[in-house]
Amino acid sequence: MSRSGEFCPRCGETIERAAALDLEGPDAALCDDCYLDEYDLVDAPDRVEVRVCARCGAVHRGNRWVDVGAEDYTDIAIEEVTEALSVHVDAESVSWQVAPEQVDETTIRMHCQFTGVLRGTPIAEEVTVPVKIAKETCKRCGQIAGGSYAATVQVRARSRDPTETETSKAVDIAEAYVDDREDKGDRNAFISEISEVSEGVDVKVSTSQIGRAIADRIVRELGGTVDEARRLVSEDDDGQRLYRMAYSARLPAYRPGEVIAPDDDGPVLVRSVQGNLKGVRLTTGEDYEAAFEDGTAPDADRLGWREDAKQTTLVAIEDDRAVQVLDPETYESKTIARPDYLDPDANEVPVLKSRAGLHVLPDDE
Ligand SMILES: [Zn+2]
Ligand SMILES: [Zn+2]
Repeated sequence: MSRSGEFCPRCGETIERAAALDLEGPDAALCDDCYLDEYDLVDAPDRVEVRVCARCGAVHRGNRWVDVGAEDYTDIAIEEVTEALSVHVDAESVSWQVAPEQVDETTIRMHCQFTGVLRGTPIAEEVTVPVKIAKETCKRCGQIAGGSYAATVQVRARSRDPTETETSKAVDIAEAYVDDREDKGDRNAFISEISEVSEGVDVKVSTSQIGRAIADRIVRELGGTVDEARRLVSEDDDGQRLYRMAYSARLPAYRPGEVIAPDDDGPVLVRSVQGNLKGVRLTTGEDYEAAFEDGTAPDADRLGWREDAKQTTLVAIEDDRAVQVLDPETYESKTIARPDYLDPDANEVPVLKSRAGLHVLPDDE
């Protein structure tokens, strides 16, 4: 499509134009000089104001807060200026660079240099865009600061207190879950408070769904069950009820490595508390499994821990059911039960001395 021989509607010059140049738009009929007079390569705003959360670095865009993952305000300024620039639709081979100039803590002058080709003419342009950073608090950080929460995850244990290892593991699980949700762009996921209480730890979280998910993950990792309870917090004029949920992750009463006496058939070393409690009898080496209705909490005496065991001399094998060992405290020779895991060729065996007497433990596997 050649327009050769046409006249520019603005200056009246005859237009000589290559046939390949297929231009559109209201000013397509202008000659190149008039066109380049009329249009810039780049449209830049006079100034850019960015609302940034001073706590988490989120940027306010449109009508919502967005996590941008920027390192600092300069990064944010560059990104926002880039968003605000518009390059001429017919420009080709556009490249640009910016040089930020920090004026003060919240003002950055962005010097932007552009090159490109418009109607076959190479053009260079330079614009300076002042960027003002307005420090605010985003909705989420405001809620966190205000202690807002919809659910509490209570980490507890049955008939004992959770150990420090268990509570710190539970807190790790909660934080990892919320971090993961944040990484996936969920701005409604947050922990507003973690507080140690005498019987465990409480974690206050932003939604009941998050509370349930965290409690489920804690018992999947540490054993136990989740109980939930709903508490009415308030009722507004329209009868809308606000509830808060409490999810209690109840860790098992006993833990792997603990030695307990669940009945009169001899002590049991606990091996697992997933499902119901399983272990090994220290008198015979037979497997022990708690009755289904007892789950992980059979009624039992606590006798000690596998790490309390001491190595002692295996003096003699008496018969299929008995061996002689040295009492690790008195060095007296004692006849005790012979479990089937005992290696008769061993010189030393681990024994636990408890109020139930002296028992050979299995070797650490
Ligand atoms: Zn013209
Ligand atoms: Zn924030």
